[in-house]
Amino acid sequence: MKTIGVIGGMSWESTTTYYQLLNLGIKHQLGGLHSAKIILNSVDFAEIEKLQHQGKWDETAVILIEAAQSLQRAGADFMIIATNTMHKVAEQVEASVDIPLVHIADATGQRLVDQGISKVGLLGTAFTMEQDFYKRRLTEKFGIEVVVPNGVQRQLVHDIIYKELVQGIITSQSKDDYCTIIADLAEQGVEGVILGCTEIGLLVKNEDCDVPVFDTTEIHAQAAVQEALN
Ligand code: GLU
Repeated sequence: MKTIGVIGGMSWESTTTYYQLLNLGIKHQLGGLHSAKIILNSVDFAEIEKLQHQGKWDETAVILIEAAQSLQRAGADFMIIATNTMHKVAEQVEASVDIPLVHIADATGQRLVDQGISKVGLLGTAFTMEQDFYKRRLTEKFGIEVVVPNGVQRQLVHDIIYKELVQGIITSQSKDDYCTIIADLAEQGVEGVILGCTEIGLLVKNEDCDVPVFDTTEIHAQAAVQEALN
């Protein structure tokens, strides 16, 4: 079994989910007392969040590069960045080490292709929904059309992530808001909706929605388990 390097803490609320899912995945595949070999480098999210909102992405990359290099030194065979948004700097991080990266958008794009989905809604931070790094990868590499909510809805989705979900606050009002936005996307003809922020799965589950939702935390963790056993 390969050792999984995890750059986590963005936020730790979802890193705990990753930790559980990686271990459950290995247990499911290998049985008995097996558990995942994991090295975790968990950053201080307050530093990251401040730099994100100041647009200082190169400075966030420096923090993630240090984390990636420490994982490599500690013996990780490959790594994951346990957040969608920070894949904005994934190429810089990947280039700074010799170990490969299992990219969250690739895992998600592959899952959508496997399920025959070609038009999908995307929820995530404003950075993920509005900038190019994530949507373009899904479109160019996997031929998937990506639809995002309107401006007011995007702001709401973003605010709920930063003011509630990454702080472990789960409310029924926010769940209703997300379900309404997902229903609006479904009316625009999407065949599914990507929960493209690793904390959204804490708020919304498949059974809450009329259209299938794709939880990137689950999909990414499953891809990492497959890579660990490859
Ligand atoms: N975990 C979130 C994501 O998947 C947001 C936190 C962050 O900005 O990294 O995008």
